[in-house]
Amino acid sequence: MIDFNKMIDNHLKKEHRPKGSGKYYPSEIGNCLRKVWYTYKYPLELKPELIKIFELGNIMHDFVVQVLKSEKNKDVELLKSEFPVKAEIDDFLISGRVDNLILIKASGRNVLVEVKSTMDISRIWEAQPHNIVQLQLYMHMIGVHNGILLYIDKKNLQSKIFEIKYDEQKAMEIIERFRLLHRSIKEDAIPDPEARGDKKTLWMCRYCEYREKCYAETAQDAKWM
Ligand code: SF4
Repeated sequence: MIDFNKMIDNHLKKEHRPKGSGKYYPSEIGNCLRKVWYTYKYPLELKPELIKIFELGNIMHDFVVQVLKSEKNKDVELLKSEFPVKAEIDDFLISGRVDNLILIKASGRNVLVEVKSTMDISRIWEAQPHNIVQLQLYMHMIGVHNGILLYIDKKNLQSKIFEIKYDEQKAMEIIERFRLLHRSIKEDAIPDPEARGDKKTLWMCRYCEYREKCYAETAQDAKWM
């Protein structure tokens, strides 16, 4: 008989290509800066379980495109999906991929729609700060200053949307964050364990593959949880 689990693993298997310094991604910059730094300095191959979770996310993205394109949804027109954006800053490159650009026909407004799939939509009460960072940057880079974060549940297709106001000051701060990341990679200077500095971001450490390394580097104290 066939082993379909193995077939899925084979199908999804990709060659492991470590990221090169000098090219950075909007989808990562809202994460803990030390973690992003680790991913450049100590790249890890993705575990098969994680690859499958990401693939489910891709499947959801395709589904959202189908919904936005559907002729049964006449109030909205899908203008573009999955399109690249790039910006050269100083001596490095910011490179990303925008999920969707739509036209709201009633108002004539163009709106960026960034899609995030989730395992439990009931836990999403507000737009997540690291997702807002990504969308703020895209709004800035593309010059479309209306944005929506769309969360969709992988179990039941329930969704929630949050409108995000463009804020130029925030976009500048995010670009500054890229500068900080680039400098710390070039100079081989490890950033602070950011996510451990605030109870609101400590959840990131639960899912961090570099947790042990991070605690070995910086022990728990009054400042870093
Ligand atoms: S354990 Fe937490 S603070 Fe340390 S690198 Fe990971 S996410 Fe950042």
